[in-house]
Amino acid sequence: MEHLDPTDREKILSSIRTIPDFPKPGIQFKDITTLLNNPDAFGTLMTHLEKRYAGRNLDYIAGIDARGFIFGAALADRLGIGFVPVRKKDKLPYTTVSEKYSLEYGFDEVEIHIDAFGEDTACRSDAPRVLLVDDLLATGGTASAASRLIGRVGADCVECCFILELGFLKGREKIDAPVYSVIEL
Ligand code: AMP
Repeated sequence: MEHLDPTDREKILSSIRTIPDFPKPGIQFKDITTLLNNPDAFGTLMTHLEKRYAGRNLDYIAGIDARGFIFGAALADRLGIGFVPVRKKDKLPYTTVSEKYSLEYGFDEVEIHIDAFGEDTACRSDAPRVLLVDDLLATGGTASAASRLIGRVGADCVECCFILELGFLKGREKIDAPVYSVIEL
């Protein structure tokens, strides 16, 4: 099952609440805490992702700070593969590689451990196959920076997966990898 059926789509979508004007006026914040505390909806989502990605020959899931950690780590466990965090600047303790990306005002930065996918990945002909996961795709700045990081430490970002996509922001056009969103709004 590659795509979600309409009943499951409705179950997952109705479990996510929208908070107007958070964290600032004009933003419709998609709050996934109400999905996480609903075991039926969360389980349906994770089973869908497990079915979609089992058999894709993935080596790792990389999750984006912070909500991508929750879905990414749960999926990695279901698939029996490793999980790698892509974190905001200055959070990772070992040697890192970093990428800047632009925000509405200014810049932000994400980092990954240099050995996140094992030592000497740059010298290997069979680059580890990585799925990048986050909760929501908006402008695409965060995910495109994270996918560049995966490439810079010698792995292959084979797909970027989001639970929700704000399609009108056209974020997927910024990302240099295939994009799958469970629910496009
Ligand atoms: P962007 O880089 O613009 O694609 O923003 C994506 C990141 O910001 C993701 O990590 C999301 O968790 C967060 N984000 C952006 N917009 C929203 C929103 N409306 N509701 C919840 N999270 C958001």
